[in-house]
Amino acid sequence: MLKSAREIEAMRRSGKITATVLTELMKSVRPGQTTGELDRLAEEHIRGAGGVPTFKGYNGFPGSICTSVNSEVVHGIPGPHVLREGDLLSIDIGTTLDGYVSDSAVTVPVGKIRRNAQRLLDVTLECLAIGIAQMHQGNRVGDIGAAVQRHAESHGYGVVRELVGHGVGRAMHEEPQVPNYGDRGTGMELRPGLVLAVEPMITEGSRRVRMRKDGWTVVTADGKLAAHFEHTIAVTETGPQILTLREYAEHPDIARYASEVVA
Ligand code: MG
Ligand code: MG
Repeated sequence: MLKSAREIEAMRRSGKITATVLTELMKSVRPGQTTGELDRLAEEHIRGAGGVPTFKGYNGFPGSICTSVNSEVVHGIPGPHVLREGDLLSIDIGTTLDGYVSDSAVTVPVGKIRRNAQRLLDVTLECLAIGIAQMHQGNRVGDIGAAVQRHAESHGYGVVRELVGHGVGRAMHEEPQVPNYGDRGTGMELRPGLVLAVEPMITEGSRRVRMRKDGWTVVTADGKLAAHFEHTIAVTETGPQILTLREYAEHPDIARYASEVVA
């Protein structure tokens, strides 16, 4: 599962499309818009850049992106749902280019959001940055989850157990699994060439989740908010490299955390 330098460059090209399209989507989010409109925009941009939307048709998934609103954690199906002022929207996107997949997600405010929602967003983004900061050779997969869990729980938030990050490459989901919880010093050793999608899914209340009747959408069991951020990251000899890094970040914290972990 280790990637050569050449493969990592191919994944970086895929990641560049994912990052650019995600930025476009972040810029367009507004109250009154439907999640289906975002989906069409995403597909148009991905294909326009020469890529293929990885999610479309994946196990029968109908969209090019996942759009998960408020208590929806992940895998929401884009469609006629109208976004409202104050919503939290998670956008998850995957691109396949020349056979290589990149996977990234952000949660963004729709208009003005409440203070508790902003705090959940900030802490979840910090969880991603803190997890990525563990991705040095010689560390272990468990170090990522332990760091994420510790940070989330120190703020009284829940860490979803049923869904995890993953290896990524020619397939969207490769070994190893990357839980957002766990113990330091456990799991696979991180070696240069390992590429992982790290994706904390953090809840405002209970960490328990359930599946909607549509068979896709995962929601919090207590109906409280959830947030989700994800990057595709390569372990290299000089430290973690975010392959889905956005050059222009609508949310200033994204740029700040990203540059910290890269440095
Ligand atoms: Mg994803
Ligand atoms: Mg993923």
